[in-house]
Amino acid sequence: MRLLLVEDDPMIGDSVQKGLRQDGFTVDWVRDGQSAELALGSDVYDLMVLDLGLPRKGGLEVLQNLRRQRNSLPVLILTARDAVADRVTGLDKGADDYLVKPFDLDELAARIRALLRRRAGRADPLLRHGELALDPATHQATFRGKELALSAREFALLEALLDRPGAILSRAQLEERLYGWGEEVESNAVEVHIHSLRKKLGADFIRNVRGVGYTLRNP
Ligand code: CA
Repeated sequence: MRLLLVEDDPMIGDSVQKGLRQDGFTVDWVRDGQSAELALGSDVYDLMVLDLGLPRKGGLEVLQNLRRQRNSLPVLILTARDAVADRVTGLDKGADDYLVKPFDLDELAARIRALLRRRAGRADPLLRHGELALDPATHQATFRGKELALSAREFALLEALLDRPGAILSRAQLEERLYGWGEEVESNAVEVHIHSLRKKLGADFIRNVRGVGYTLRNP
């Protein structure tokens, strides 16, 4: 899952980016409101973590512009401890959740997972497809009742496919989910991961739709 983090405080931004990356998210970090809008216009994200007090366009304005464009991207706002009015305004302007600074990174990650489930219309915290189950919270996977060892990228790739059952994702869409800005992508990285996953799950578990992309075999 690819997240946009908008935070001008270097200490908070750095620790949130590192923490969420450890939790398996792809995280792009920008430090002001204008850069956030540029990123939203050029890349596809699954969720935005948005500080409200930002230079060059505040978080509320970014949020309002996003909703005005009928963009339903899940948004979690970060607010200061004493700013109840900000939280109320943020939620009423279209935010989906909020956290008060200082916050716990584990709680942030759990709230993000909850928002992503809700967006996908899923109540089950596990992602399931046939005999495969993924737990985004612990990054454990089971297949046919047995634990399945997956690399972080393999897990992220399966997560992207299981998040939208039936959808066909192009190689570029999968790359976007797996790699953030500044991360080097080998030209055949997605194919390499797919090849390795097919060895673990069976050759036809991930189908290649010629000229379009990848999808999962019907369970
Ligand atoms: Ca700030």
